[in-house]
Amino acid sequence: MEEIELMKKIPGLIIQWYQQNKRDLPWRKEKTPYQIWISEIMLQQTKIKSVKRYYNRFLKELPNIQALAEVEEEKLLKLWEGLGYYNRARNLKKAAHIIKENYDGNMPKTYEELIKLPGIGEYTAGAIASIAYNQKVPAVDGNVLRVISRILGSKKDVLEMKNKKEFAQKIKAIMPKQAGDFNEGLMELGELICIPNGYPFCNICPLKEICVAKKENLVAEIPVRNQKIKRRKEEKTVFLLRFKNKIAIQKRTNEGLLAGMYEFPNINQKIKNKQIESVLENWKLIGNRIKKIGTHHHIFSHIEWNMVGYEIQVKNINSEFIWVKKEDILKKYPIPGAFIPFL
Ligand code: SF4
Repeated sequence: MEEIELMKKIPGLIIQWYQQNKRDLPWRKEKTPYQIWISEIMLQQTKIKSVKRYYNRFLKELPNIQALAEVEEEKLLKLWEGLGYYNRARNLKKAAHIIKENYDGNMPKTYEELIKLPGIGEYTAGAIASIAYNQKVPAVDGNVLRVISRILGSKKDVLEMKNKKEFAQKIKAIMPKQAGDFNEGLMELGELICIPNGYPFCNICPLKEICVAKKENLVAEIPVRNQKIKRRKEEKTVFLLRFKNKIAIQKRTNEGLLAGMYEFPNINQKIKNKQIESVLENWKLIGNRIKKIGTHHHIFSHIEWNMVGYEIQVKNINSEFIWVKKEDILKKYPIPGAFIPFL
């Protein structure tokens, strides 16, 4: 079958499957542009299971663009705590502010306007424009690239920008009237049926009759992803310093990784037990009981932290750190996910 003929068959099969099989997710209930926007940003680099936990709380606290535009940064970061990639949250606020000022607080309706907002790239603009307004634009994420390259039996590297653009063009050419259902259906199929790593569930796939990868036994080889992410590895020793019912935290600088968030005091190296005294001395603290509390490996987009943590009862406090009760840390201070395991 010619490629274009094959592509033309996809929308009908996907939409029918999606309408019968879509999951009942919190952001699919009302589908306001605001809710679609928030969920799409949360879903970038975060699994649906985790997003579900944060989405309702976020919407309860910040139910509309006005509230998001006016929220204090610390409260916003606390609501985002655990989702990671905190610039996503900051960009949401920046974009909300622009929408409030330039669009009377109403979400812009076209892909072309949406993509100009901070934090909204091609994928998110496509998702909002198609799901909220049925604009015929593709929303191409990793799931969609996997599904389409398998259907076409394409061995082009899906991480290469020019190939991504080519796939997006091909999808654009077949966008149906129900653009939102089509885009959501492609993503949903990639999440549930045409899954990565290991074998997809071809036997229950609505595209099994037309899929080239299935027919030619190429499912394990496609999608092709040649570029490997190189991450810098860093060692870290984290200190859970306790004085009576208080724990020491400190604010990170306002720039760079995890900017403006709070963390437990730490140093950028792994140390031996006997070196701990001198670290405490530098902080003008006298340690009492020292206990190793475990290790944690945290992966960011370009850095990996190998972390080891110690819990230390100290005999005094210093002015360098903020000493707060555990309940207050949980309620008020945004702590990055990398540090949470030590609490
Ligand atoms: S038939 Fe298999 S490989 Fe092809 S799209 Fe469906 S699940 Fe993916």
